[in-house]
Amino acid sequence: MDHFDYRDGELHAEDVPLRRIAQEHGTPCFVYSRATLERHYRAFDDALAGLPHRVCYAVKANSNLAVLDVLARLGSSFDIVSGGELARLQALDVAGDRIVFSGVGKSRPEIEAALEHRVLALNVESLAELERVAEVAAAQGVQAPVSLRINPDVDAKTHPYIATGLKHNKFGIAMEEALAAYRRAAELPALRLVGMDCHIGSQLTELGPYADALQRLLTLWDTLAAEGFALQHLDLGGGLGIRYRDEEPPAPAAWGEVLRRSLAGRELEVLIEPGRAIAGHAGLLLTRVEYLKPTAEKNFAIVDAAMTELMRPTLYQAWHDILPVRPREEAGQNWDIVGPVCESGDWLGRDRALALAPGDLLAVRAAGAYAAVMSSHYNTRPRVAELLVDGAQVHLAREREPLADIWRRERPLPA
Ligand SMILES: *Cc1c(COP(=O)(O)O)cnc(C)c1O
Repeated sequence: MDHFDYRDGELHAEDVPLRRIAQEHGTPCFVYSRATLERHYRAFDDALAGLPHRVCYAVKANSNLAVLDVLARLGSSFDIVSGGELARLQALDVAGDRIVFSGVGKSRPEIEAALEHRVLALNVESLAELERVAEVAAAQGVQAPVSLRINPDVDAKTHPYIATGLKHNKFGIAMEEALAAYRRAAELPALRLVGMDCHIGSQLTELGPYADALQRLLTLWDTLAAEGFALQHLDLGGGLGIRYRDEEPPAPAAWGEVLRRSLAGRELEVLIEPGRAIAGHAGLLLTRVEYLKPTAEKNFAIVDAAMTELMRPTLYQAWHDILPVRPREEAGQNWDIVGPVCESGDWLGRDRALALAPGDLLAVRAAGAYAAVMSSHYNTRPRVAELLVDGAQVHLAREREPLADIWRRERPLPA
């Protein structure tokens, strides 16, 4: 599943002891494994073998340039949700025909930039956006490649904050309005209809919701075909879950099997947009114990990482395994692993049985996705370093931010 293993009694990232990374780069820091990223990308690519397909890694899960570069070199395409993410890919010279652009709130400048870079498709999420894309394209004298994001109204059975395919969510065009939206798009000469897409949520642990969404989309696809629409690609979005604790998400191959069965004999290219399932287990957050604070109610282990690096526990009550880098012999006790930030919600794990001493290193697992990208400067904490391990090599993928950079664009009052 990943390339973080114990060797000689201590946790390694591929061939590198995490202790050495902590010594050389300080803590907290994120450590990524290139081999794990590659393995997970290939699992999706292989899962769709035999179907014309494209794996579009969801950049928002982890947008570090080194991570994007690893995937770009494997031939990955990309799903973006902002002009900022587009600019990252441009910095890596990723061609527009490997990029799809999702998101409910694309601004004019973002649409302009996407069209100038000749993206493969804009995944349009509302009628209002459709009109705006047509206007911007007409002003540029080009045709915008458009795919409509349909909200299939299926329950992804995941945390409410990361469910996106229900009627009451802000995402996509309702199924009942979809036909009218395609007809409207066909009237706009500045648009070229290339596809249909959906993305029903994140951290899905069952295939049922995907199969349901796919059937609904195919029904719409066939209705459109009967009206003479000739779409080229069907994009099923991302969302496949990973095991944080005891979840048993389906393997990419099982998802691929559902797609292969449902799409057999159809002439279309299938796109998928996995993010978490590629990057999640490819990273961990390395942190050091500052203080042990046993109290009458609870034992707190105060570490140097915080909700500013990993917001998922406090945002979604998410579980992340927390491992000692060098396990101790003695029996453990239960600890709440908490950060230094002034919020009671600043915790990384609760009631973890661990034998701890101040100065010990801990690794918070499955922190490759929705971790560094969600970090903040709260409490004037600088962004931490990110390292990408490749065999025995350690690549500094992001420097620890110098403190003064945090307020560099702030101005005290004039004298
Ligand atoms: C977030 C997102 C994804 C990726 O979701 P994961 O759960 O990380 O696989 C894919 N497509 C869209 C449109 C998204 O917003």
